[in-house]
Amino acid sequence: MNPDRLTVLVAAYNEAASLPVLHPRILSALDALAGFDTRVLYVDDGSRDATWTVLQQFAARDTRVSVLRLSRNFGKEAALTAGLDRIEDSAVVILDADGQDPPELIGQFVAKWREGFDDVYGTRIEREGEGWIKRATAHVFYRVIGRLSNTPIPADTGDFRLLSPRAVAALRELRERHRFMKGLFGWIGFNRTSIAYQRESRLAGASKFNLWRLWNFAIEGITSFSTAPLRLSTYLGVLTALVAFVYGIWIIVKAMLWGDPVAGWPTMMSVILFLGGTQLVALGLIGEYLGRLYEESKRRPLYLIDEWHPATGVSSELVSQTEGGSHAQRTAPAPGESA
Ligand code: UDP
Ligand code: MG
Repeated sequence: MNPDRLTVLVAAYNEAASLPVLHPRILSALDALAGFDTRVLYVDDGSRDATWTVLQQFAARDTRVSVLRLSRNFGKEAALTAGLDRIEDSAVVILDADGQDPPELIGQFVAKWREGFDDVYGTRIEREGEGWIKRATAHVFYRVIGRLSNTPIPADTGDFRLLSPRAVAALRELRERHRFMKGLFGWIGFNRTSIAYQRESRLAGASKFNLWRLWNFAIEGITSFSTAPLRLSTYLGVLTALVAFVYGIWIIVKAMLWGDPVAGWPTMMSVILFLGGTQLVALGLIGEYLGRLYEESKRRPLYLIDEWHPATGVSSELVSQTEGGSHAQRTAPAPGESA
């Protein structure tokens, strides 16, 4: 294992215009890192333009560059997964191909990694070249998912981040089909810290994420990392059943005291309300089990281990010494173990 290997992972879809500008910036950022075995891995996510040709030229010119091409456009999440699957014993910096995530920050990311952090993520303080609609929807999205999900998903954080080798290994253990990367990064835990940065505008071309795609992306995130929507029907059902019950009693009492001009209406109304309420409760109940089934079907590891210090069986003097040092210096522990 080489702890000093660093791979820059870039997913690119129709980025032939941006890549020639971005590539030299990545290389010079890597050149500035002394004492690291640095690599760059480009994943062409089924581009229709000259992206693949451009990437092949990069690879021909520099032995540090690997290129991978998917058979069609699978989406950024799948492209990143494909890249991460091919990275062995290496820390990873993930950045966008359009230059919105400045490679010049790699040095800062690495410094944090050296301090012992496993997940160093970039938090945007400004989003240049993005309309207010995109900013507002992003804002709402991060707040909603933060409320609904138990997984910590930092706000205003994209995929721009550095992952330590063991964080990459942990991420690889999550094999669920619906991959909401922001959530998966949060799920693996470990020591995390953020670096604030200004999100620049695209070098060329337009964003591939229009509002419709973002909406679907948001639904993907919420349904992948929360079963709250399923629980909604339980609450709705209980509420309706309760209201129906009270209203039903009122209709019956009213009919008994004063009679009702429409024959049969009170009976019919109470039956309908009662059945409607119980059906919603039953649906909610099914939803609860469905939610559990859904959690199980993801087959995520039950836990990941950060550190483990088994009893050594030697004198207490020695134990207290190792305890003092365990937090200050992290000697590459084994990657997360699954259950
Ligand atoms: N991307 C990808 N596959 C896709 C769409 C996008 O690999 O189907 C890449 C794209 O080339 C870029 C990154 O994902 O490197 C972010 O895409 P984009 O800039 O369009 O999104 P935005 O920055 O507007 O959120
Ligand atoms: Mg972009």
